[in-house]
Amino acid sequence: MATQLPFQAGQQVSVRGGRVDARKTAPPSRYTDATLLDDMVGVHKFVTDDRMRSILMKTKGLGTERTRPDVIEKVVADGLVLRDGKYLDASPLAIELDSFIDEGLGDPGRTALLEFGLQNVAEGKTTPVAFMSGIEKYVQQVVDRALMLEIDGTHIQSKREKGGYAKKERPQFDSLPGHGETCSKCGEGKMETRLSSKNNKTFLGCNAYPKCKNIQS
Ligand SMILES: [Zn+2]
Repeated sequence: MATQLPFQAGQQVSVRGGRVDARKTAPPSRYTDATLLDDMVGVHKFVTDDRMRSILMKTKGLGTERTRPDVIEKVVADGLVLRDGKYLDASPLAIELDSFIDEGLGDPGRTALLEFGLQNVAEGKTTPVAFMSGIEKYVQQVVDRALMLEIDGTHIQSKREKGGYAKKERPQFDSLPGHGETCSKCGEGKMETRLSSKNNKTFLGCNAYPKCKNIQS
């Protein structure tokens, strides 16, 4: 039943007051091992497709309780995630890599698709061979694409583009003030302008990475 309001349509009322709250928006809090593990379990929060969401909820997210910590250690060892005390940050290399890899790879929905495929195998709707051949094809595409990338330190470049893949253009951007200057942290590297694919903003990163992890935004 609708609540009866003490007003009628068209009735004039006077405003007794108002106020402005001075507040600031806060950036998302940085990941720690604990919060990243939580988000790997609750990864369905980042998926909009209802069916994929429910699969990811049922399978309790990415990986298993045993493999999840290893996944974090692996991306740290590979230089894709940097430890800063208890915090975990995406490295400049990871941010650059993100603009080159197949979009589906970074999508937790991909895990849901695999789980869905496994479910179909379990229910006899598809054969293990057909399921595996689909994965093989996909992995081959990803590897072919990766082989076309030249990775040196923090920099990734496309060697050449074969037919069949849409070329992802590296966006053009202006150099930031301080570009080319000697790094104030290590005194060896030069600061270079990079583009974050996360927020499309430029930042300065030391080109001595991964030896030096100095970045300035
Ligand atoms: Zn440096």
